[in-house]
Amino acid sequence: MKELTCIVIGGGYAGIHAIKAIRNTWKGGVNKRPLRLILIDKNPFHFRKVLLFKPAVTNEDIRVPLTQLFPEGIEFVQATVTNIESGEKKLNYTDVKGNKNTMQYDILVVAAGSVVRQPDPSQGGIALASLDDSHKIKETWRANLKKAVAETNARERQRLMTIAVCGAGISGIETSAELAHYVHEEAVKLGLDSNAVRINLYNTNKSLFPDGPVKVGRKLEHSLRASGVTVQHGVKVLHEKDGTLTLSNGETLSVGLCVWTLGLLPNPMLRNIKLPVTSDGFLIVDSSYRVQGTTGVYSIGDCARIVDPASGRADGKTCKEATAQAARLVKIVLADLEGRPAPVHKGFIDFFCFGLGPEQGMAWTRMWGMDLVFTGKLGWRLRKFTWNSASLLK
Ligand SMILES: Cc1cc2nc3c(=O)[nH]c(=O)nc-3n(C[C@H](O)[C@H](O)[C@H](O)COP(=O)(O)OP(=O)(O)OC[C@H]3O[C@@H](n4cnc5c(N)ncnc54)[C@H](O)[C@@H]3O)c2cc1C
Repeated sequence: MKELTCIVIGGGYAGIHAIKAIRNTWKGGVNKRPLRLILIDKNPFHFRKVLLFKPAVTNEDIRVPLTQLFPEGIEFVQATVTNIESGEKKLNYTDVKGNKNTMQYDILVVAAGSVVRQPDPSQGGIALASLDDSHKIKETWRANLKKAVAETNARERQRLMTIAVCGAGISGIETSAELAHYVHEEAVKLGLDSNAVRINLYNTNKSLFPDGPVKVGRKLEHSLRASGVTVQHGVKVLHEKDGTLTLSNGETLSVGLCVWTLGLLPNPMLRNIKLPVTSDGFLIVDSSYRVQGTTGVYSIGDCARIVDPASGRADGKTCKEATAQAARLVKIVLADLEGRPAPVHKGFIDFFCFGLGPEQGMAWTRMWGMDLVFTGKLGWRLRKFTWNSASLLK
């Protein structure tokens, strides 16, 4: 029986869960057809993007080699996919040596994710967008604290001990909480007055967590305040220049570091791979993740616009959505290959988790019309579980 080739583009959260689900479910396969399963990523590792704030405060490595996640049964190709010729069922890629190549597929899963939204370079600061940025953030606040020790001018010392985090989504909340903990800890070690550490989180909305109930947003703010973060609502940071932060309300503040956490944008490569995209740049798929106008091409995770046909609600761009889509995808692929009706997308339950510094967290879900909130150590355990399970780690 002829072997089928299934290629997954992207070893992020959606891609690794798709690989796991396909490998585990295929066993015996469709009409006993053997499967060749290939994972293509530009990196040799799965990048734990949701933990980008960690290397900004500690030496934790947030890369997991793909061969560690899948020691056998999967072929890896480290390459950047440049376009897809869906009529010919082939894709083009450039490998790490710069060689251009082509690969044929029967089934293709595009899980190329998103990129972090960056401010304009003239706005200054550092965006929490890559591992290098994260390291740069850590080096900057550590160097600033060392300078503060020798600084005799009180105003300049205060500036060196002040950090602005601009953007109060999950990433901004978690980043500010971690910075508050580690910057305080380091200040104490260096003999500085840790009460002088200022971590300001700027939020353009009127409250935190607009996706959930107001009282949960308030609880989050309360926890942040307790860990040393001041949240300022309804204000936009315009730019940081030479240590001065300028806000949309005309206020200015002297800061030693400005960190941007502005959310996500669709991967720009999606506009160039010859597949249909929405006006804002997400792949267009039907309710069973099939890319419009193609056969055998599916897309899940941050790079696709996926809508629950029952509610009309578009999925969020989060790990929980990506992993649930991956689990459903394999059933869809098998149904399509066997000519059966395929399952359709169903939105995920309302569930959000926040890390609020080491060993502190909060989780919220709505069940049976009730808001359930888990805080402290339990909130933290749930947070840790979601981080690890999303990356297929124990
Ligand atoms: C700072 C930050 C904090 C976040 N916090 C949370 C959180 O707390 N909770 C939550 O649920 N979500 C969070 N998110 C969102 C979450 O990271 C995404 O929803 C998730 O990464 C989506 O997974 P994905 O697999 O679709 O995409 P990604 O994780 O972006 O993976 C895409 C993969 O595709 C690869 N790739 C891209 N282009 C190509 C190409 N041309 N060729 C080959 N390979 C390619 C990339 O290398 C990458 O491995 C956060 C995101 C950021 C940036």
